[in-house]
Amino acid sequence: MTGLINAIPATNKDEYKNVGVYIEHRGDELKRPSIEMIGIGKQLARKVNEKLICVVIGDKVDGIAKEVGEYGCDIVLAAESPELAEYRTMPYAEIIGGYIQEYKPNIFLLAATRNGRDLASRIAVKSRTGITADCTVLDIDENRTLLANRPTYGESTLAEILCRNHRPQMATARPGIFPPAEKEKDHKYEVIKKKVDVDKKLLGKQILKFIPRKSTDLTSAKIVVAGGLGLGGPDGFKMLEELANLIGGAVGSSRPPVDLGWITRDHQVGQTGQSVRPDLYIAVGISGKPQHIAGMKFSKVIVSINKDPNAEITKYSDYIITEDYRKVIPALIDAIKNS
Ligand code: FAD
Repeated sequence: MTGLINAIPATNKDEYKNVGVYIEHRGDELKRPSIEMIGIGKQLARKVNEKLICVVIGDKVDGIAKEVGEYGCDIVLAAESPELAEYRTMPYAEIIGGYIQEYKPNIFLLAATRNGRDLASRIAVKSRTGITADCTVLDIDENRTLLANRPTYGESTLAEILCRNHRPQMATARPGIFPPAEKEKDHKYEVIKKKVDVDKKLLGKQILKFIPRKSTDLTSAKIVVAGGLGLGGPDGFKMLEELANLIGGAVGSSRPPVDLGWITRDHQVGQTGQSVRPDLYIAVGISGKPQHIAGMKFSKVIVSINKDPNAEITKYSDYIITEDYRKVIPALIDAIKNS
């Protein structure tokens, strides 16, 4: 890979400035991982006195463009067409690639969501640059070099990857790691909107109807009640669901129950699942392996319920309940119902 990228002539770095961010939304709903990307993008841009440029694509995007501006973006590039109402890989990649050619950002960031990952590699190829995927730390130095860190070797090491010769410096960032941007009162921003004529050939399949799958967005949950292999089967998750419903939480899982089909993959927390930072994380029958810890260690308060007093998870827990979950969870449910 390094050999391939080195075969591409180096770009003139002086031509590239500002930080670009791709914004994900569904209709008028801005996705939380993109608010996180605005947060980190803004931080990087302001550190070197540059601008934050965000790309919004869709149909009727005025509302989203305004919201992005209110979050502190300086220039919102808005591409509109009825055919872009739903996410479409090729036309979206084409539009972002075009914007990169025109505006030449020094850095370009996407959230490492399903769509973000799908787009990132295509944009990198179009822009003849490299990409650091799934970053958990992003910073910029005085030479405007992006310091992109990503976990490697099963989360045991943090690798710093630098894009030496090519621009933009592209990275995807793991959702749930960076704090979301906050709105800035009276922030001045510019929206540059264009109507796009979509090349029909790029659309590929025709979308007849969009039926959203009921998915679990753990990244915005304030409370997560997560179960592991220690639950012993899918019935354990029913118990956790009852507790989560009572306290306004969402149900999470470690990876083995997902692999065993006890619960769907959108509940998985960890290195290959979602990263969460709720106010309260209750880990039930989870041992605390590094791949799981990677996705929940930023939770404000961690409670573990585990039979084993020496389970790894206890090292990360603020409160430890050493007991069979079959005793603890029903008792908690009763206590809440009777309170
Ligand atoms: P176990 O490690 O088996 O722990 C079960 C725990 O339950 C034990 O501590 C036990 O004491 C306790 N227990 C048993 N019975 C009870 C009871 N009745 N009451 C209370 N406690 C009880 N894992 C993830 O979670 N997320 C990921 O994203 C992820 N990605 C991975 C990526 C890679 C490349 C690899 C190699 C692994 C990944 N894993 C991931 C798997 C990870 O390494 C662990 O295998 C997994 O996290 C262990 O899950 P667990 O804690 O539920 O199970």
